Amino acid sequence: MDAILVINAGSSSLKFEVFGIERGLRKLVRGKMEGIGTTPHLSARDHAGTTMIDQAFSPSEVADLTAATRMVGGWLREKLSGNLVAVGHRVVHGGPDYSKPIRVDEKVLADLERFIPLAPLHQPNNLAPIRAFVEQMPQIPQVACFDTAFHRGHSAVADHYAIPEHYFAEGVRRYGFHGLSYEYIASRLPEVAPEIAAGRVIVAHLGSGASMCALRDGKSIESTLGFTALDGLPMGTRSGQIDPGVVLYLLSERGMSAQQVQDMLYKESGLKGLSGVSNDVRDLLESNDPRAEFALDHFVYRIGLYAGQLAAALGGLDAFVFTAGIGENSPVMRARIAEKLGWLGALIDADANAAGKTLLSQPGSKPLLFVIPTDEELMIARHATEVVRIHGLGAA
Ligand code: AMP
Repeated sequence: MDAILVINAGSSSLKFEVFGIERGLRKLVRGKMEGIGTTPHLSARDHAGTTMIDQAFSPSEVADLTAATRMVGGWLREKLSGNLVAVGHRVVHGGPDYSKPIRVDEKVLADLERFIPLAPLHQPNNLAPIRAFVEQMPQIPQVACFDTAFHRGHSAVADHYAIPEHYFAEGVRRYGFHGLSYEYIASRLPEVAPEIAAGRVIVAHLGSGASMCALRDGKSIESTLGFTALDGLPMGTRSGQIDPGVVLYLLSERGMSAQQVQDMLYKESGLKGLSGVSNDVRDLLESNDPRAEFALDHFVYRIGLYAGQLAAALGGLDAFVFTAGIGENSPVMRARIAEKLGWLGALIDADANAAGKTLLSQPGSKPLLFVIPTDEELMIARHATEVVRIHGLGAA
């Protein structure tokens, strides 16, 4: 059977999933290498949930992402009987021009390296496995799938900052992220909710990274994320939207370096910074510390504010969709957020919410409320299959 490998690499982990191409895409293997460089651990399960490997390595064996990629590639080669026709990679930044997935060659890779300053914590980690696989298996197409691509159809008005125009031409513009997640949700809407699929929908991707996207007729018209993945909602450890004057103050009056400010905004802020307790909503919900409750209040408040902004961009709202870790798993948070949408006419059904039903709203609610689990890996596998098909590179 032909197979597609999907890679989603972060700073200390490499997640992977293998799909068989057989009358559509079939999930075969899912795994991850965690603790890269510190306490490396490779685990994987097959489609039935049976453990295929659960093994620790020494930090010197898996010192970095390149070594992790080689290790995972080698293990998959041994275990997979199928014919690998492509590897799809999640790449956070495609810059202004990449509006579609693309087969990576040296020129594309060099181009994507130019965007490292725009996503310093993500882009280098996304590119390292591509480079490693280009060397390890040069005959297999490597397909980059961008978190920015789904937002490339935004209007110029939405994409601009009100700063001198030449900065826009240089690439200082609002990109939007989590696009693979939103694209997947948009692809599910016609099946899950045909009555609103062509309408005005806000999707809230609420995970350790969090953002919201306004969809009209299944296409992104606005996002809470902008130039970098720091904008919009407060996240696990990221600040979300902040007056740029705060950054100027920290640099000029507090004497902080750009690196210190960056570390503070990316790693010490958001739910973690506000609560002083944790970046994880589960911990905050369990904590008795009033700062934990305050951090959650702030998070919910900002989601409500942005819902207003995005509803304005859409000119009304037909549905609101929850997805990602918090959106898919926390009835408590969904209820608190739905309450903030009450002024728009949202009415949550407590039983449907507690049961995790797909449709969460009461009859008569407008907007309708939904939970739709996201699947960025499947979206990447679809894209990689399509790129292979277009180029006639495999049997897909
Ligand atoms: P993600 O980045 O989409 O994997 O989401 C991870 C985040 O989802 C975690 O950091 C938690 O904050 C949150 N999360 C996962 N499960 C739950 C749950 N049952 N209740 C509340 N939050 C959850």
